[in-house]
Amino acid sequence: MAENKKEEVVSAALKAEEKLKSQWWILDTEGELHKIEEFNFKGRDNLRKFAGYEVDKDRTVHQEPPHVTMMKALELVDYEPASDPGNMRYYPKGRMIKALLEEYVSREVGKYGGMEVETPIMYNLNHPTLANYLNRFPARQYTIESDDDKYFLRFAACFGQFLMAHDATISYKNLPFKIYELTRYSFRREQKGELTGLRRLRSFTMPDVHAMCRDLPQAKEEFMVRFKMSADVLDGIGIHNADYELGVRLTEEFWQNNKDFVVNLVKTHGKPVLVEMWRERIFYFILKWERNFVDNLDKASALSTDQIDVENGERYDIKFMEEDGTTKHPLILHCSPSGAIERDIYALLEKAAFDMKVGKRPTLPLWLAPTQVRVIPVSQDYLGVADKAAAEIEAAKIRVDVDNRDESVSKKIRDSEKEWIPYTIVIGEKESGKEKLPVRIRETGKLVEYSPSDLSAEIKGVVGDKPWRPLPMPRYMQQRPKFSG
Ligand SMILES: [Zn+2]
Repeated sequence: MAENKKEEVVSAALKAEEKLKSQWWILDTEGELHKIEEFNFKGRDNLRKFAGYEVDKDRTVHQEPPHVTMMKALELVDYEPASDPGNMRYYPKGRMIKALLEEYVSREVGKYGGMEVETPIMYNLNHPTLANYLNRFPARQYTIESDDDKYFLRFAACFGQFLMAHDATISYKNLPFKIYELTRYSFRREQKGELTGLRRLRSFTMPDVHAMCRDLPQAKEEFMVRFKMSADVLDGIGIHNADYELGVRLTEEFWQNNKDFVVNLVKTHGKPVLVEMWRERIFYFILKWERNFVDNLDKASALSTDQIDVENGERYDIKFMEEDGTTKHPLILHCSPSGAIERDIYALLEKAAFDMKVGKRPTLPLWLAPTQVRVIPVSQDYLGVADKAAAEIEAAKIRVDVDNRDESVSKKIRDSEKEWIPYTIVIGEKESGKEKLPVRIRETGKLVEYSPSDLSAEIKGVVGDKPWRPLPMPRYMQQRPKFSG
């Protein structure tokens, strides 16, 4: 009898392990599944690296990725020794870049139809629904005490939005019900050995748009809309299809019943993807994808993502009224179109490091460059002319500054290069009183003559309708403190 019982426990454990066991595949655009070891990765280095990283599951970091040096040298972001690791400080230029990204992503989600809300950052650990939800998430949380209660800091925007949806009156006519929040911050106590620069943090800014859907057909339709929206959002940030690899995770049952749908996702993506398949559903979702960036240390990180959640509509008792008057629980899609904003900055800097490897000058996308144009007078005598040119360019909502320091021209040009400034204009006797000014273009390394209005038009043409913010520091270099680097 005792022996039998022991045997049962062992087999139950084995069964659980079997359930957890992932099957890994490469799915090509023709809909064919390949074993990873049999797939020809020729010309698909990043997919090979991503697959290796995922199957391996080693998240520890032994080396500092290049973006860490860059984020400090450019005076964007730095570690904050007085905080818990993985909580960063943002200097004015870094704050401006982050704010622009936040504004851009929120604006795009607004166009898609996401209703922006705001919810608390802490929740009661003993709230019955949340306690149950926390148990489905083995991630480690920050907890805090207030009076006799214990709270945890949110690790996503999900619960705040679900609790709100629980109390809302929703009809099938309101579906998909799209609700959005950009959390600043979400918190996850990631392992110390995994924290690096902007790649893996303990506090991060996460745009999160949920869509409550009527049934699986509606969820699939909406899923496709968001799949494309996320690609557009990343494109706008400056992260393109060639920069990321798609991971698709699903249950065997979903795959068997929805092959065409999944293959269509891969076709839209346009290149083979990594698939993780589970024999049984072990998470709350039946299908998930992420676009993963592979960095200079061959580490992969998820950027945008979406999921079809079949559990939380019921867990949070979110209800909608069907056409026939009955109430039902919706399916819930969880999407971050950009992924964590910090991770977008990480990806942009790591891309710049890749450019350096092949001899290109590193740059940031023009709309995110803290200074877009620098004007350098060769001496104080030409400060007035420099100011006039700067004012003309600035009037077109372009971030322009003036290097009025008592430094040599060569030193000023070097500093402009160190700051990755896209356009630099040196003004001396020859340029005084002239309509056209010689502009050094960082990307091409060429010197081209522009009038201030032509230069402004060219910059506006590249930047398009992206959000804008003014210069994050004083216009005169001499008035600027140095934060780091
Ligand atoms: Zn969510």
